[in-house]
Amino acid sequence: MKLEKRGIPLLEKAVQVLEEGFSELPEAENDFNFDEIASVLTETAEKLRDNYPYFHPLYAGQMLKPAHPIAHLAYMLAMWINPNNHALDGGRASSHMEKEAVAEITKMFGWESHLGHLTGGGTMANMEALWVSGMLNPGKLIVASEQAHYTHNRITQVLKLPFRSVDTDDRAKMDLNRLEDILKEGNVGTVVATMGTTATGSIDPLGEILTLREKYGFRVHADAAYGGYFVLAENLPEETKAAYQYLSEVDSVAIDPHKHGLQPYVAGCIVFRDPAVGKLYKHDSPYTYFSSKELHLGEISLECSRAGASAVALWATQRLFPLVRGGRFAKMLERCHAAALELYGKLAEDSRFIVAFPPELDIVIWAPKAESISKISALSTRQFEEAEERGLYLALATLPVKFFKNDLEGVEIDQEAVTCLRSCLMKPEHLDWVDRIYEMIVGLKM
Ligand SMILES: *Cc1c(COP(=O)(O)O)cnc(C)c1O
Repeated sequence: MKLEKRGIPLLEKAVQVLEEGFSELPEAENDFNFDEIASVLTETAEKLRDNYPYFHPLYAGQMLKPAHPIAHLAYMLAMWINPNNHALDGGRASSHMEKEAVAEITKMFGWESHLGHLTGGGTMANMEALWVSGMLNPGKLIVASEQAHYTHNRITQVLKLPFRSVDTDDRAKMDLNRLEDILKEGNVGTVVATMGTTATGSIDPLGEILTLREKYGFRVHADAAYGGYFVLAENLPEETKAAYQYLSEVDSVAIDPHKHGLQPYVAGCIVFRDPAVGKLYKHDSPYTYFSSKELHLGEISLECSRAGASAVALWATQRLFPLVRGGRFAKMLERCHAAALELYGKLAEDSRFIVAFPPELDIVIWAPKAESISKISALSTRQFEEAEERGLYLALATLPVKFFKNDLEGVEIDQEAVTCLRSCLMKPEHLDWVDRIYEMIVGLKM
């Protein structure tokens, strides 16, 4: 079996259970033509074949992770209702499920209070965080590292907030000295700490950033879109684990259930530690159908209509896999980190390759060794293409040469950035496939 199909009969049963909840309703006829639907659906399936096999362990490229069957089945189940979590009137059960699921996420960070909701991805989650930052600190700088997601720079343009980026050190972490230079200028409103950079999975030094907050006073937003769930993993390097513990003290966190939370696209999440930020969302639209005293999620969200199904899927997933240390979900993340470490170890020992720093999470970056950075870059691109032809799907990244500085003996540095290979080992099964993936990598032409 290549695509998991065992869940399909379960869905039929669940739809029946759902239907029983509406047994009082009179029958209502419709005239869907299922012969036509079947034919278009078949055509659709044929079209969808044109994709990389994201669900398979030999897809070890970009940051793409298959949704767990519980998530996509629960999502599809909700489609028979199609709730809208804008207001309780549009999705009652699914709004309650969203509140529960989001509360569990904040518990994972060790928070005692919060305000938050799901979003259309990490971009929207970060946008909401920076929008709140701008309201609380009008006209002040938003600062993020050079390896922060490019979305921050763009979002600040949308919000018309000034933005500065800070250099990183050799391990792609925010350089604290450079940060303090900017803080001394005195106009910083918010520092964005990336907890798992998208390119290399590096963690900004959150503890030290919080110490600087005591001295200079600014908001701290953690962009944990990709790395947030790793707060549960116990096999990470000590320094990484220590940084995660400080998530309990930040002002806001963006985390993507569609990155490491086993969810279908799109599911982001923004949470604020101080529920009082809710007052910033006030509006007095005549169209709203907010009818009860209970909180409608649309009252604390920049987006209005949102998929109730995303909340249903997340709730069901967290029911099956509670967000606890030592739990089955945490073990899955630990396997991803172990897989990355193992692949890194093999490549680091092999003189045919250059490697960057050891992975903090589950992303490995490396390149085939050659005489110069430009030759290494060209060779990486060739190997990337050849790997695809052989059924191994990798990714390319262009990164500062300094990330590889410990492994460049005898290499001529003829350019500042190097194009290298990158692999996100985001599936727990990857741990069983590391040997095979490594064998395929060493089989590529040098
Ligand atoms: C993926 C990612 C984003 C953007 O999130 P989307 O869900 O793609 O909109 C932002 N920040 C980081 C660190 C990310 O990894």
